Amino acid sequence: MAQRIEVKDLNIFYGSFRAVADVSMHIAPRSVTALIGPSGCGKSTFLRTLNRMHEVIPGARVEGTVEVDGTDLYGADVDPVAVRRQVGMVFQRPNPFPTMSIAENVLAGVRLNNRRISKTDAADLVEQSLTHANLWTEVKDRLDRPGSSLSGGQQQRLCIARAIAVKPQVLLMDEPCSALDPISTLAIEDLIAELKDDYTIVIVTHNMQQAARVSEKTAFFNVEGTGKPGRLIEMDDTRTMFSSPSQKATEDYISGRFG
Ligand code: ADP
Repeated sequence: MAQRIEVKDLNIFYGSFRAVADVSMHIAPRSVTALIGPSGCGKSTFLRTLNRMHEVIPGARVEGTVEVDGTDLYGADVDPVAVRRQVGMVFQRPNPFPTMSIAENVLAGVRLNNRRISKTDAADLVEQSLTHANLWTEVKDRLDRPGSSLSGGQQQRLCIARAIAVKPQVLLMDEPCSALDPISTLAIEDLIAELKDDYTIVIVTHNMQQAARVSEKTAFFNVEGTGKPGRLIEMDDTRTMFSSPSQKATEDYISGRFG
């Protein structure tokens, strides 16, 4: 599985408002790409077009193409539900189903997809996904407790376990650490480093140090003002972006001069 993402001439709309303009981007398989930029530049909007979550908002639409391994996600015969299975997502606030047990939370996505699995297969999948999310040893003796009984950092790892249980190819993360304490943040960052051996990861972050720590490539988005669309200003190796970006706006942003 290659999991290469190729975005071409993407324009993203909320009704008549063009929120993001003319993005073309290549994302290599099994890599971590950080999306950075000031608030309102369209990072989350762009991220949500990579698994067709954007269009669940009434009036929201895109023009252009997003290809995963050569297949356009917006092709006429493509089922958005199948896309969301292939491209998983983790949100800003950990959102486990509060009354569901830890084990059932892991299986929730699989059950939504109507996949019937035997009890043993389910137990194996729960262990495998929680192990992969670095949570197994902490919860293996209380799998039937509610998801809400975990700490915030554990809940976020539970959400990652739920996302990877459906075996997606790509994992999108929208500021996955912004509601977490520093220790949980480091745990998630370590996890991202491990997961990239298997998944292509795209992460939105407001935290420059985090972008520098976890990603190989960084894409800087910017917006000229309200009512104007956000644009991709530049994308390069993270090290280059943080040491010698080619655009002045990037340098101003990463050095904290605005945003
Ligand atoms: P960022 O993630 O970089 O902070 P967003 O993607 O949230 O930026 O927002 C980009 C632009 O799209 C902003 O102008 C924002 O107001 C607008 N926007 C975001 N969500 C919606 C929505 N549901 N309806 C209309 N406009 C939206």
